[in-house]
Amino acid sequence: MVKAFFQARIGRAGALAIWLSVLVSIRAEPVADGVRAHIEFLADDLLAGRATGSPGFALAANYVAAQFRAAGLEPAGDRGGWQQAIQFLEATRVPEGAVARLERGGVTETLKYGEDYVADPVWFGEKAEVTAPLLFVGYGVHAPDSGYDDFAGVDLTGKIAVVLSGAPPTLPHDERAYYTKTTVKYAELARCHAVGVVTVLTPEDDARVPWAIRINGTRFSAMRLVDETSRPLDVFPELKVGITLQREAAARWLGGGPRPLAEIFAAAKLGKPQAFALPGTATLVAQSTFRRVASANVLGRLAGSDPKLREEVVVVTAHLDHIGIGPAINGDNIYNGRYDNATGTAILIEAARLLAGGPRPRRTVLFAALTGEEKGLLGGVHLARHPVVPREKVAANVNVDMPMFLGAARDVIAWGAEHSTLGKVVERVGRAHGLALGPDPAPEEVIFVRSDQYPFVEAGVPAIYLDPGETPVDPAMKLHELNAEFRRLHYHRPSDDLSLPFDHAAAAHFTRFIADVVRGVTDEPQRPQWNKGDFFGARFAP
Ligand SMILES: [Zn+2]
Repeated sequence: MVKAFFQARIGRAGALAIWLSVLVSIRAEPVADGVRAHIEFLADDLLAGRATGSPGFALAANYVAAQFRAAGLEPAGDRGGWQQAIQFLEATRVPEGAVARLERGGVTETLKYGEDYVADPVWFGEKAEVTAPLLFVGYGVHAPDSGYDDFAGVDLTGKIAVVLSGAPPTLPHDERAYYTKTTVKYAELARCHAVGVVTVLTPEDDARVPWAIRINGTRFSAMRLVDETSRPLDVFPELKVGITLQREAAARWLGGGPRPLAEIFAAAKLGKPQAFALPGTATLVAQSTFRRVASANVLGRLAGSDPKLREEVVVVTAHLDHIGIGPAINGDNIYNGRYDNATGTAILIEAARLLAGGPRPRRTVLFAALTGEEKGLLGGVHLARHPVVPREKVAANVNVDMPMFLGAARDVIAWGAEHSTLGKVVERVGRAHGLALGPDPAPEEVIFVRSDQYPFVEAGVPAIYLDPGETPVDPAMKLHELNAEFRRLHYHRPSDDLSLPFDHAAAAHFTRFIADVVRGVTDEPQRPQWNKGDFFGARFAP
């Protein structure tokens, strides 16, 4: 009776309300569902880890293009398509062809490849060889702005330079990050007429990337962009062979010099430039096999609404590639790259959908799923050099790479916030989302120069790289420790896959934040500016 009454009174409206609430709980967060769906596709074993130039990457690129279309973007690639084709030269090291030998006082020491050292790939000819005396030149850094010079009073001509990895910790943070780049260091060594380079890992770098992981990394091929004549770009033929020494081998090679390795490290840590000749002569040989590889960035455009500002473009990037198939670890040889960077790509797609579905941004937005990041930011470098619009119209870059969602955070990290007016936009949008700007959890990793925003910085474009922070919403959750554990156990390993925990609500929240940051940048009356006196702005801005 009561039941009948209830049904009669509540009747249709009640049923509808209950039905709606069920519906809402199923489709509570379309952004979360979208991010999840993209990740489940992109990180599936079928895509075989999306290595640059692989069929798995091509499949992933088609998927992103289809999603961009569905989101309401227009194609912005070559000839009215979605893809910006890029040619690469791929080099695979031939360990059996490598030699590292030191002759000193009638004694010859030959190092074991993999155990004692690894060689850089060679880019000109299949084999490169050099025999020369060794000259230790500290970090191999010349930073005139800070009055730091490892080369003062030494002549590297015809010598093999022996250098420490990284840059002096006493340099200001941004300068240190800049001089940490291998390309910057190698360019300087080539300019000083060195003929080879031997890198000695600092204890910090050794701890950051254990030797076993480093070796595993060298089992994957390397790549370079090529020019119109198919010659590799950003290589240094003057430096015929480059090798990196394992700790004990380094102690032996440097042990014959005037200062033991421990003293060298101690002086380096204090930022004291040091250079001295090492006794003996080294012979270094390296060998590679080559392949031409084609891949592509996937580009989608959302045209701006403002008749004037729409000429300017805000580029939003996430790399789509990962490292593909490699040595098996625990019986698994597919490096799925679920966090790195299927997750960033999924966020890119959903941010595009949010922006295309809302009021039109005033400036134009270019969404770019990039290739070649794991090979040295190559897709980003290509896009920054060939941005499909006049270069001076690129107003800003917003990058997402490997955002971690092992739990929900109440803050975000904005690498590059201190360099340009983009920092203010991020802060404002963060506040609206209840997200504080968290501190850089690992300044020594110099993240700002290590993902796809950096090629834009080098092109003089203010850029920012956004990540979830590490201050947990649930105080019992140790987010910082969990992220550190991920880097230790899963980063660039087959286990960065769909089996890892993932907070979908946190990912959806972060996606909305990213979309709003992009809108914040597109709708500002002024285009982003480098802050006055900023190191990167001063160095790269036109
Ligand atoms: Zn990445």
